[in-house]
Amino acid sequence: MFRIKRLLIEAAAQDDPLAVQVRQRLAHLPTEIIPDRETLRIAAPLTPTAIAQGKETLLLARQKGPFWRPCPGTRGYICCGYQILQVMTNCPMDCSYCVLQGYFNLPAITVFTNWQDLWSELEERLDANPKTVYRLGTGEFGDSLAMDELLGLNRELICRINRWPQIILEIKTKWARVEPLLPLGPNPQVIFAWSLNPPRLIRQEEHLAATLAGRLSAAQKCAAAGFRLAFHFDPLIYYPGWEPEYQDVVAQLFTAVPADRIAWISLGALRFMPSLKSIIRGRFPGSRIAEEEFVTALDGKKRYFKTLRLEMFSRLRQFITAQSPNTFIYLCMESPWVWQQVFGFSPTSRELAAMLDAQAMLYRQTDRSTPN
Ligand code: SF4
Repeated sequence: MFRIKRLLIEAAAQDDPLAVQVRQRLAHLPTEIIPDRETLRIAAPLTPTAIAQGKETLLLARQKGPFWRPCPGTRGYICCGYQILQVMTNCPMDCSYCVLQGYFNLPAITVFTNWQDLWSELEERLDANPKTVYRLGTGEFGDSLAMDELLGLNRELICRINRWPQIILEIKTKWARVEPLLPLGPNPQVIFAWSLNPPRLIRQEEHLAATLAGRLSAAQKCAAAGFRLAFHFDPLIYYPGWEPEYQDVVAQLFTAVPADRIAWISLGALRFMPSLKSIIRGRFPGSRIAEEEFVTALDGKKRYFKTLRLEMFSRLRQFITAQSPNTFIYLCMESPWVWQQVFGFSPTSRELAAMLDAQAMLYRQTDRSTPN
């Protein structure tokens, strides 16, 4: 399983069924029971060595807070209202720009094992709000698919959300192995979503992630099995010659999958906390992405100048609509001004969430079978 070399298990988690299952499957790894994950916590930001070790260490622990958390959003930017199930933090892949490198102070991929509490939380929340549409996912603080063959989380979630037709599960990933989940289709409540970038960027910046061809082939298999798809051009990264290469990715995308299987496509430009710059320089000395010109935005993050963001979003929008005029496109965490310039209108966060919810439900009304 990737480069995982060490398994740590919090004492309180060791009898949870998931912990027992993972321990059996990783029986060849050195395993240590630790009293509490707090003993591992070190001052943030982690050193490059600690970040690298964290990618090779799997920690099984108990979620002490709620699993379900709304996406935190950012004041001044328009948020899509995605709901996060925090079942894991960190990720075995190693993208140079990954904000998680500067975010956590635990040098491990942490998986929370008390799923009984997760199911109870879901039941309580969803039974109490049977008419509210929720777009749920596990891909905000890690990758939704990369650890799935070990954990089996998506299979469990897909089978359980069946009883709440107002739930959409968006599985966000840069991974390509979807075969174990294909027999669960057709299922319009499930959207497989890939983050896309040109092959050159994938090679240089998205270490251990699937190739573009691998992601599009996986998407094709999911569409054929009767799942819906989404794509996230996020982060869009500027480099000399970006335009034809992104245009080519868009063309490949619409060659690979039928446009009517795509629930939405998002656009989001590279953004990161200032402390990430030294982490990128230290861990990925060949990367140039943090050396461009940035401004410090309202949320304290570094972003491209808005003229450049505007240019990139407008061009991507043109590339997409040229292939498929009706595909729903939105901006991730952008300002009302940028929305206005790109689309000619600017929704509130609540309005954007409602638009995506409507999009999700529209597909449900028309889509219960495997496509031809
Ligand atoms: S796949 Fe996502 S979570 Fe994993 S390293 Fe890359 S950006 Fe971070």
